[in-house]
Amino acid sequence: MRQYIIAGNWKMNKTVSESVQLASDIVAAVKDVKKTEVVIAPTYLAAAKVADVIKGSNVKLAIQDIHWKDQGAFTGKVSVDMVKEIGADYIIIGHSEQRQYFHETDETVNLKVKKTLAAGIKVIICIGETLEQRETGVLKEVLGLQIKGALAGVSAEDADKNVVLAYEPVWAIGTGKTATDEQAEEVHAYIRSLIKEIYGEKIAEDMRIQYGGSMKGANAAGLLAQKDIDGGLIGGAGLKADTFKAIIDAAE
Ligand code: PGA
Repeated sequence: MRQYIIAGNWKMNKTVSESVQLASDIVAAVKDVKKTEVVIAPTYLAAAKVADVIKGSNVKLAIQDIHWKDQGAFTGKVSVDMVKEIGADYIIIGHSEQRQYFHETDETVNLKVKKTLAAGIKVIICIGETLEQRETGVLKEVLGLQIKGALAGVSAEDADKNVVLAYEPVWAIGTGKTATDEQAEEVHAYIRSLIKEIYGEKIAEDMRIQYGGSMKGANAAGLLAQKDIDGGLIGGAGLKADTFKAIIDAAE
């Protein structure tokens, strides 16, 4: 049985003090949550303080990206050791906004994935097609390249224990348009079949695949009821404790 994982990706939202407040609100809201893994991803700036707020709670910390180099002249970037020191549990890699606006490629995704896993931190790898790719019928090809690219050289052991995938159709992110339960399930099942091709049946069955793209309390139950959907990567609805909790309730 795969454990649901609900992660709030705060993107470029919330000042440090607002982040501390939201993290405390979420800690209080989910204190009785037992079955679902709850994760929050504040900005770099707020991450260390949020780490202190969630210490000892059932909320885990994700970081929104890293650079794959260890240190040096990379203005604006943060290394894996820096986020390890503050206790990051996960790093989100390959988000479509990174791919779209910041030159993220399947190759840089792979470098970051390997760097993160080598540091003993788990990854949430984001994949997903644009509307144009869906409409021109290249969805499977695009997802295949993204998945194979991201996981190149990743061991079976890491794939089994330390990798979460997040399927996020780009056209559904922040648009209020959600994939239907059936559309999402069809793609999730396809993704699982690709993992089976690469790593075999057991790892394919174990790997968690989140859905992301305008998930909220009102549509979460339907999506999470699908056989191959194991959680959500939440943007907008993750910015308030009550709307975030409504999704977690659907998973519980
Ligand atoms: P959204 O964002 O929930 O605001 O659509 C999801 C994401 O980008 O992770």
